[in-house]
Amino acid sequence: MLDSDDTLAVKAQRTGFNPVLTAQPRTIFDVMSNLAREMDAINLGQGFPDQDGSADVRAFAAESLMKDSNQYPPSLGLAELRLAVADHYRRFHGLDLDGMTEVVVTSGATEALAAAIFGLITPGDEVVMFQPLYDAYLPLVKMAGGVPRFVRLEPPHWKITAQALDKAFSPKTKLVLFNNPLNPSAIVYDADELKLLAEACVKNDVIAVCDEVWEHLVYDGRKHIPLMALPGMRERTVKIGSAGKIFSLTGWKIGFVCAAPPLAAAVAKAHAFMTFTTPPNLQRAVAYGMAKDDSYFAPMRAGFQRSRDRLAAGLKAEGFAILPSQGTYFLLLDLEASGIDADDWTFSQRAVKEAGVATIPVSAFYAQDPITTVVRLCFCKQDATLDAGIERLARARKLL
Ligand code: PMP
Repeated sequence: MLDSDDTLAVKAQRTGFNPVLTAQPRTIFDVMSNLAREMDAINLGQGFPDQDGSADVRAFAAESLMKDSNQYPPSLGLAELRLAVADHYRRFHGLDLDGMTEVVVTSGATEALAAAIFGLITPGDEVVMFQPLYDAYLPLVKMAGGVPRFVRLEPPHWKITAQALDKAFSPKTKLVLFNNPLNPSAIVYDADELKLLAEACVKNDVIAVCDEVWEHLVYDGRKHIPLMALPGMRERTVKIGSAGKIFSLTGWKIGFVCAAPPLAAAVAKAHAFMTFTTPPNLQRAVAYGMAKDDSYFAPMRAGFQRSRDRLAAGLKAEGFAILPSQGTYFLLLDLEASGIDADDWTFSQRAVKEAGVATIPVSAFYAQDPITTVVRLCFCKQDATLDAGIERLARARKLL
């Protein structure tokens, strides 16, 4: 029998391997999804849709698997995908990218982040990050020898202020790592806040790595604004996207990096020594998908928005207070405002073990000084799952 993840973690600690990783707890998504399986719970924790994405994109991949080459594609990615990514962002976000010199295909956004961090920083460089932060950011920065500097964001608006940026940036800052729309806060930053960040980057001569994997999942008529489009940012932004999110195919792990040629080349070099490339048939299918227009994207967004509204309405009817969800797959439950006298960890543990519903405690997204009054729920699930989740959350509430 294979060791469980826990046994492996203990062994890693005992044998004194990479201290950055041995000090790192297992990811919260793994912890909660394993508990959900163990308890046969409804999983509103980890962010993945319970229905597979675009059937035509999958059919394209299946056909390509049989009729096209399955051998190593170029390390930068297939030209047809790089051109399709550039064309996609031209049509949707008005960006003017050269697909051949400014787009690199990676194994998901996670590898794109790793390649950007390893490709761009020198040990000792400071990296500004916003808390709550996606779980891969901090270990990647530390493994690359970067020194983290945090900007702490708070519910309900998760506002970025000029003062907070001023405090975090220093002459040693090389990079800022920014996620918009923001997971787990479900906030879509508007032009005014992006402008503050862009001004700080220009003033301090800093590169922005902007994780925009949720760019198409924005609701209520909102528009995603890429940080790269702001004045002074075209040459200093590394924009990261993920086909997994765009087509609800999270297991595919096809990501893209878009950046001016010198930055793209540095990221491409790191990518070449990490994974080198990513499956050609999935790249072909994603190229096909990226050519879609709003007749795909508008209903896709509307479907997620409907699920968000169903979960929100059900929770409100049970007396829960929720925070505004402007984008992503997520909705936040405000425990404090709901009158629940428990921190997010206690609530999440008891909810999965005693009421059969998995959630994610938002404090897991903080490296220091955590917010402990909010849990994250994933709404990209079928109606029956959402309804059962609401009922079980109501049950969890009665336990506390
Ligand atoms: N960044 C953020 C903010 C995410 O939410 C996710 C996925 N949940 C990723 C990166 C990872 O994307 P991928 O699966 O393409 O590696």
